[in-house]
Amino acid sequence: MEKDYDAILIATGVYKARKLDIDTSSVDNSIPALDFLIESNRTGLGDSPSNNKFLTAKDKNVVVIGGGDTAMDCVRTAIRQQAKEVTCLYRRNKENMPGSAREVLNAEQEGIKFNWLSVPSKIISDNSTATSMTYKVAALGEVDESGRRKPVDTGVEKQIKSDLIIQALGFEPEDLNHNFKTNIELTSWKTVKVDFKKFQTSNPKIFAAGDIVRGASLVVWAIHDGREVAKSIHNFLKSSKIKKAS
Ligand SMILES: Cc1cc2nc3c(=O)[nH]c(=O)nc-3n(C[C@H](O)[C@H](O)[C@H](O)COP(=O)(O)OP(=O)(O)OC[C@H]3O[C@@H](n4cnc5c(N)ncnc54)[C@H](O)[C@@H]3O)c2cc1C
Repeated sequence: MEKDYDAILIATGVYKARKLDIDTSSVDNSIPALDFLIESNRTGLGDSPSNNKFLTAKDKNVVVIGGGDTAMDCVRTAIRQQAKEVTCLYRRNKENMPGSAREVLNAEQEGIKFNWLSVPSKIISDNSTATSMTYKVAALGEVDESGRRKPVDTGVEKQIKSDLIIQALGFEPEDLNHNFKTNIELTSWKTVKVDFKKFQTSNPKIFAAGDIVRGASLVVWAIHDGREVAKSIHNFLKSSKIKKAS
């Protein structure tokens, strides 16, 4: 592909869902956040519901694991689908969660419960369906590599009824060089390494912008990067080194 174009932009976002530390593969009602949100959007737009009965929250005790924007989308979607009860489990405290504080307030106003400092520890199931889960109550310890205080186990374990578990633990990049058959330099987080002035990768004709560069981030940054990378590609194409594409 590279030889056919004068410049290439990679802006594929980050979509590989982070997994829970505990194995949930034996139950069919523990699902990734995007499966739940996409189904909600599809049916909201008039498509027929999928055959998977676990993609809707109606009449269920829903547990959403995570504390970012995606988790907030899931809890508020679930409560509006008339879930019996919706609880958000997050491993740090309210002050250290990545999602917006205003969304937490709005979610609380809609009746969502937040169990802060809660780390899932075990799924309790009946055959292949989870009926409840246990979680360890944590306290905040030392500051970790993200600059936030790390949750540490207090030895207390609690149980919560859950007939739908939604995993919203964030996203990370796919194996980009494999997917695009490129060999560009990546960071230790597997995001694309760029020079942030030009959004140019280690291969001068390949540019990258948005979440694939920043890791899961915000729309405003994606818009900013889109504008900057457009200018940068324009300048690159104008430069005398590039011959006009036939
Ligand atoms: C559920 C959810 C909730 C969010 N809530 C908020 C919020 O409230 N506020 C906020 O600011 N941000 C929020 N974000 C983050 C925000 O959506 C992203 O930061 C932003 O969209 C990143 O823009 P992007 O252009 O880098 O990537 P994206 O918007 O993710 O676009 C990437 C595009 O590339 C496509 N793509 C991926 N791989 C390939 C491929 N191999 N070939 C072709 N196409 C490909 C994808 O289908 C997608 O269309 C949320 C994200 C999610 C997932």
